[in-house]
Amino acid sequence: MPKSAELQQLAAAGCAGNEAGTGNAARLRIGGLTPLTSIDFPGRLAAVLFCQGCPWRCGYCHNPDLLDATVTGALPWTQVRAFLERRRGLLDGVVFSGGEPTLQTALSDALGEVRALGFETALHTGGMYPDRLAALLPQLDWVGLDIKGPWRSIDAITRSRDSAPRVQASLQHLLASGVAHECRTTWHPGLFSIDELHRLADELATLGVRRWALQECRTPGGTLPALGPEHARALSARFEQFALRRA
Ligand code: SF4
Repeated sequence: MPKSAELQQLAAAGCAGNEAGTGNAARLRIGGLTPLTSIDFPGRLAAVLFCQGCPWRCGYCHNPDLLDATVTGALPWTQVRAFLERRRGLLDGVVFSGGEPTLQTALSDALGEVRALGFETALHTGGMYPDRLAALLPQLDWVGLDIKGPWRSIDAITRSRDSAPRVQASLQHLLASGVAHECRTTWHPGLFSIDELHRLADELATLGVRRWALQECRTPGGTLPALGPEHARALSARFEQFALRRA
């Protein structure tokens, strides 16, 4: 999430924007912007756009201010576009994160404008709109797809009904597309057990997932669980690339 100082930084940089190329993309509601990241789009220097709105309500969500889909975006597209024009040649790519970017139908036009400016594009998604993801994949260079947990646990984690079939369909679209990607799972023992974590890893590997990131997060009590090295090794062995991240 961007800090207000970063938004002020944009204003101070003279990102007043212009009206060029702001068709449907201008309707994209953006809650904030991180000007530079080297970790959200692997191998790329990128800016991150945080899209407003998400239909899910995960208890560990780090961006609660972005969940309300009725909130007007904090950053007009004209400002975002002006910022990106100033970063041509300095950044490799732009990440659309959230919230849930695929919630907004203006995302495709925004991706088109970003690509036309010469940037590569990345998407962070929970995969709750598989048909929209399938349609967007040709416009994407990299996707980070959240697999919230074992299929039977996903509804409890997202606090939403029928989440699992949507994520399964999104995963199938992503695997079939050939677009570079990573599947990510956020975990602490209160969400589901270590045994279930191993079974999930088995299932993902069997489905064809080659890159998986496990993101340990704090329990509601504030404890950061330490997954033992033996578990990390066993999980890692199922994938070509495995990352263990601790929040
Ligand atoms: S899907 Fe992501 S943005 Fe939406 S509630 Fe869950 S963690 Fe937050």
